[in-house]
Amino acid sequence: MSTFKAPKGTYDLTPPDSAVYLAVREAIAAPVRRAGYGYVETPGFENVELFSRGVGESTDIVTKEMFTLTQRGKEALALRPEGTASVLRAALEGNLHKGGNLPVKLWYSGSYYRYERPQKGRYRHFSQVGAEAIGAEDPALDAELIILAVDAYKSLGLKNFRLLLNSLGDKECRPAYRAALQDFLRGLDLDDDTRRRIEINPLRVLDDKREAVQKQLVGAPMLRDHLCEACKEYHEQVRALLTAAGVEFEDDEKLVRGLDYYTRTTFEFVHDGLGAQSAVGGGGRYDGLSEMIGGPALPSVGWALGVDRTVLALEAEGIELELPAVTEVYAVPLGDEARRVLFGVVTELRRAGVAADFAFGGKGLKNAMKSADRSGARYALVAGERDLAEGVVQLKDLGSGEQTAVAIDAVVGELRSRQG
Ligand code: AMP
Repeated sequence: MSTFKAPKGTYDLTPPDSAVYLAVREAIAAPVRRAGYGYVETPGFENVELFSRGVGESTDIVTKEMFTLTQRGKEALALRPEGTASVLRAALEGNLHKGGNLPVKLWYSGSYYRYERPQKGRYRHFSQVGAEAIGAEDPALDAELIILAVDAYKSLGLKNFRLLLNSLGDKECRPAYRAALQDFLRGLDLDDDTRRRIEINPLRVLDDKREAVQKQLVGAPMLRDHLCEACKEYHEQVRALLTAAGVEFEDDEKLVRGLDYYTRTTFEFVHDGLGAQSAVGGGGRYDGLSEMIGGPALPSVGWALGVDRTVLALEAEGIELELPAVTEVYAVPLGDEARRVLFGVVTELRRAGVAADFAFGGKGLKNAMKSADRSGARYALVAGERDLAEGVVQLKDLGSGEQTAVAIDAVVGELRSRQG
């Protein structure tokens, strides 16, 4: 063991488990790629102000959870705590919204960092796949994104997840509601932090998980009763489109989410097998964010799904993904001449698209056959001097134990034909 350990709240992905993470990322990305979303990659850090302005001054993410980096007298940077602000920044900077082809649809996959109290499902470094549709206000776009997320979870075989749905209103109806809510909240018995939150973002107080707070919230004015006609109509359309697509959802009028930029549609996916950290993904519409970071008005919608928690959800449901074999063929040379020949065969196999590995390090037969078994390979190729003298190698089916001699120059063709 080395002197060093992975930092607190982080963990390494190593084989074989790492293959599951890759497969989950690919499964989440597949539906969005089929829906016209293009890949975007942004830096792991940004100007800290992008997040304080974009995500919101009063959010836990900005006040408590950002990892900031100093930069010799220049503006501070922060490791990205989420993806939306960066992706929108990149779209604006690259003028993607000026191509006359709105919405700009982008997807991403990467690492995110939050200084949180670590526990199962909550880490300081975690991984998300996200999708954003920038520059269009259309309930079908909100519905599209939600359906794509549902399809991604389903393609992984997940069943015990639920979709929570809400509307947060817009700049027409939210201010009056906000004021009504503030009036109500100011009369409650709350700690100083929460009192400050009432003044900056009162909606988030509704989201407070503490029982003592939740008790006092009974009878609070609810946004549902204050939505303007346009927001109501918009939300009804989103709901109708989801229903038509066979997507079930639960209306959750307290769903506010931890980021300030949301307007209208907000949603969260929760999984019932995960305990406290049950949110596997979430998102919503953020019509004002572009202007908040200095861009033009660009109504947009997006989501981010957590890879770590999706893997935990698979475990909770006892789902084992069918992963492609890491190694299909394992070569076991006996002697120097066989090493040279089989190494050549392995190279050829790989070039022909067959996953192949080789007994490196001069292992004896017994050890090498153990490695072949451990590799998960379906076949072993074994060759010794006598085989080579006859111009053959032994092709052994590691499942049945059956062994056949195959001419050296026919091996690649034989294995390729058995592959399908
Ligand atoms: P959020 O940006 O907070 O809505 O996060 C979107 C998703 O990312 C969540 O639903 C989680 O699945 C995942 N996520 C957020 N924070 C963490 C964390 N600290 N550790 C692991 N996953 C996280």
